[in-house]
Amino acid sequence: ARFDPELLLASLNDAQCQAVAAPLGRQLVLAGAGSGKTRVLVHRIAWLIQIVNASPYSILSVTFTNKAAAEMRHRIEQMLGLNPNGMWVGTFHGLAHRILRAHWQEAGLAENFQILDSDDQQRLVKRVIRELGLDEQRWPAKQAQWFINGQKDEGLRPKNIQAGGDLFLATMLKIYEAYEAACARTGVIDFAELLLRALDLWRDNPGLLAHYQQRFKHILVDEFQDTNAVQYAWLRFLAKGGESLMVVGDDDQSIYGWRGAKIENIQQYSSDFPDAQMIRLEQNYRSTAGILKAANALIANNNGRLGKELWTDGDDGEPLCLYAAFNEHDEARYVVESIERALKTGLSRSEIAILYRSNAQSRVLEEALLREKIPYRIYGGQRFFERAEIKNAVAYLRLLDGRHNDAALERVINVPTRGVGEKTIEAIREHARHSELSMWAAMQQLIANKALPGRAAGALAAFVELIENLAAKVLDMPLHLMAQTVIEQSGLIAWHKAEKGEKAQARVENLEELVSAARNFENNEEEEMSPLAAFLTHASLEAGDTQADEHEESIQLMTLHSAKGLEFPMVFLVGMEEGLFPHKMSLEEPGRLEEERRLAYVGVTRAMQHLVLTYAETRRLYGSETYNKVSRFVREIPPALIQEVRLSNSVSRPYGSSSSSSGSTSSMGMFANAEVPDTGFRLGQHVRHALFGDGVILNFEGSGAQARVQVNFEAEGSKWLMLGYAKLEAL
Ligand code: ATP
Ligand code: MG
Repeated sequence: ARFDPELLLASLNDAQCQAVAAPLGRQLVLAGAGSGKTRVLVHRIAWLIQIVNASPYSILSVTFTNKAAAEMRHRIEQMLGLNPNGMWVGTFHGLAHRILRAHWQEAGLAENFQILDSDDQQRLVKRVIRELGLDEQRWPAKQAQWFINGQKDEGLRPKNIQAGGDLFLATMLKIYEAYEAACARTGVIDFAELLLRALDLWRDNPGLLAHYQQRFKHILVDEFQDTNAVQYAWLRFLAKGGESLMVVGDDDQSIYGWRGAKIENIQQYSSDFPDAQMIRLEQNYRSTAGILKAANALIANNNGRLGKELWTDGDDGEPLCLYAAFNEHDEARYVVESIERALKTGLSRSEIAILYRSNAQSRVLEEALLREKIPYRIYGGQRFFERAEIKNAVAYLRLLDGRHNDAALERVINVPTRGVGEKTIEAIREHARHSELSMWAAMQQLIANKALPGRAAGALAAFVELIENLAAKVLDMPLHLMAQTVIEQSGLIAWHKAEKGEKAQARVENLEELVSAARNFENNEEEEMSPLAAFLTHASLEAGDTQADEHEESIQLMTLHSAKGLEFPMVFLVGMEEGLFPHKMSLEEPGRLEEERRLAYVGVTRAMQHLVLTYAETRRLYGSETYNKVSRFVREIPPALIQEVRLSNSVSRPYGSSSSSSGSTSSMGMFANAEVPDTGFRLGQHVRHALFGDGVILNFEGSGAQARVQVNFEAEGSKWLMLGYAKLEAL
């Protein structure tokens, strides 16, 4: 044989070998985090191709996220030393999309059907509710969207649902039906529909189904615990008569129950395929023994587990680190300081991840990273200020604020299209570079010198006039009128209105939303900056203008949900507070609380060497302030595994208290003394400043009249102040 089986199996343990070299048929690999499930899957694919001589064309491999799919493709390429053309590696959604593009006619879709993202979908649902004449307060779009997606995830069409006399159900059903009609009319399709439509396609076209069944002789599924009813039905359809089906998963990492995922699919698999071979992996290769013990202790609090214990032959490693922050700013400050320290010890930025429960938590962390100029990336979810149409409108505002802004100029010089070609833009760039001018100035010179072709020169002259006119007109207006005028007179709104379809509609609505964002911002008095400049700063912070580009080494920020399957040498789990995580919505229902715990287990098991947990005693999130207790998930980890970082003894200690073996002495050695000598102030004290508002004393230097204190202000972040001048009021 050309390939040596021994070589393929050399880097695997016995149980892993058993899975990789299993005879064709059905296998279920059930194993905990970091035990090599994904590694087994990749090796199995190599095995099928090299040893079994399967054609890459006959393999279908499904993972949960695009990131995971890309990673898998990359690993396979490396192992096989070739690009396995024709092999299908992707997500369920990606595969459904490909199939529907190929068979749009049979699927009853428009040829150029567009996909609705979640925001687009909510907008469409909202419109439908309005068109039906329903009360939007009583029947919120979000709830209806939730209902519709839930039904689709279960494979249920309106015709499959019996409302009976139930008003809620009957109304939801009405909305569902009208929504489906609207989708069909406008040629759009939502995420859940992608899966369901592909399933219908096979059900209704036995010939097509047979084609795909014959093609995909070998099917492999990662993260099987998070498949929903429709995805599972897919597998059953496709795998019928196929040669092999291997699914790998971990019941303890099922975290998409809220989106219709069914852990029961694991048991279902065993009963649907009674001949399936069950393989368990128990050795963890990812984390230190300390991290692993913490994960095991945490998840042991769940009931009804399929039961598995992970072990490692590595040593305990560093203890987990726990930091109790005064508020979210202090938390962010601590995280960033710890990151800086870790970078100095030789860790690289991409080896560090900050994980949080809710997207909204990233805001304050981003600010702290930006302040220290540490590049970072956020995975998943496009923020408002990152959307193309918003960036365009903001670029106009930037140009009004300062013509020298080349990035802004480049962004809008031909948006909306006004007949300025790439060649002309390059000529301006070149002239600017050569004469060391801004592009704006270079452009004016080129126009004046008649150095450009007539048509381009005319278009540019009109552009210059537009910007100058706008500037003369709007700069004294209140911010929201400024935004309103700019989106209208720049032609942006009209331009998107002229495009057709759901996406364009969304763009128009986003632009309108920019006007309200500007209006909200008007209350934000900034002393040093004009309101426009302040708003633009806000926009770039929000959009992460300084966010690292694709290839730059950067800190990884993401929600716990999107961290699934990944691993990092250093992990921060922030916001470990009751009400935030576990989320308050889950506290009432035992089932949802257990799902939150599995999410915590996913978080803990992402860490290889260093795990830092943080929580904030007070937090302002979604505009209101809450006082929080440390998360039960932290308390479920044996205190002996945790080292607590504390600023002072004078602060209330919700965690650990007297019985805890983790001492109150700061492991950072920062604060031995709680009093700022001869001042009457102490660390951890809440204070008020006339200008900066309320904050907490974090640190000090000197004593008495000469003392300086570092105060972390809720609104302003941390500042050093001379106590003698600051006139702090103790709260
Ligand atoms: P998760 O449940 O988080 O998705 P997993 O079970 O898929 O985890 P992998 O990501 O495949 O685990 O493996 C975890 C880490 O352990 C990876 O870095 C992998 O390369 C390594 N690993 C797995 N098996 C072995 C082995 N036999 N020898 C050495 N390293 C291994
Ligand atoms: Mg994995």
